[in-house]
Amino acid sequence: MIESDEGLLFIVCGPSGVGKTTLCRELLEQRPRLSLSISYTTRSPRGDEKDGVAYHFVNESRFQEMIDQELFAEWARVHGHSYGTSVEVIEDAWSKGRDILFDIDYQGAGQLRARFGKRAVLTLVVPPSMGILEKRLRGRGTDSAEVVDRRLQAARHELSQFPMFDYVIVNDDLAHAQAMIFSIYDSSRHMRLIWEERMRSLLSL
Ligand code: 5GP
Repeated sequence: MIESDEGLLFIVCGPSGVGKTTLCRELLEQRPRLSLSISYTTRSPRGDEKDGVAYHFVNESRFQEMIDQELFAEWARVHGHSYGTSVEVIEDAWSKGRDILFDIDYQGAGQLRARFGKRAVLTLVVPPSMGILEKRLRGRGTDSAEVVDRRLQAARHELSQFPMFDYVIVNDDLAHAQAMIFSIYDSSRHMRLIWEERMRSLLSL
């Protein structure tokens, strides 16, 4: 099978509790061309999170230094902490003909779209209803009522950014949502935008 060697940024956003981590995990397993972007963050590791695996954990002053040195392709404050994607991660993946999967917030998604245009494919994962999202968040039982309320408010805000996105997946039925994310990614690999080099070589231009 002939594929384009040009890389994509595949960005999946959605509120906490919507199930995007499960969808992304399966996509990474089934599509070897994709690798997950590891972000930098100023928040502390949770549980057994290891540096360089879940995130690169850095302090505020190092993060600021990276901003000043323009090492980030995007960065944002989310829930009181800073998170960012280094330019190096993207350049490195693209030089190897790989695509990158991003589990980042809508602000970062908007910045990557502004910087990379349609090569950044933006998908928003949404709950079937706000009531169902609330039930899922409360059902986890890990957070206090206030934390859940804050997450719900943040969810509404994130979902209201929908006009910026290319695709929407309602995570009602997991198998269906999973099939849709495969379909969006596979179709994106056929965007004319990433076939420029191959078309030029086909036509000896
Ligand atoms: P958590 O701290 O729970 O791992 O992530 C909190 C939020 O930060 C999530 O919505 C996640 O998608 C977002 N996030 C993680 N990494 C990045 C990043 O590099 N850039 C941006 N803009 N958001 C990120």
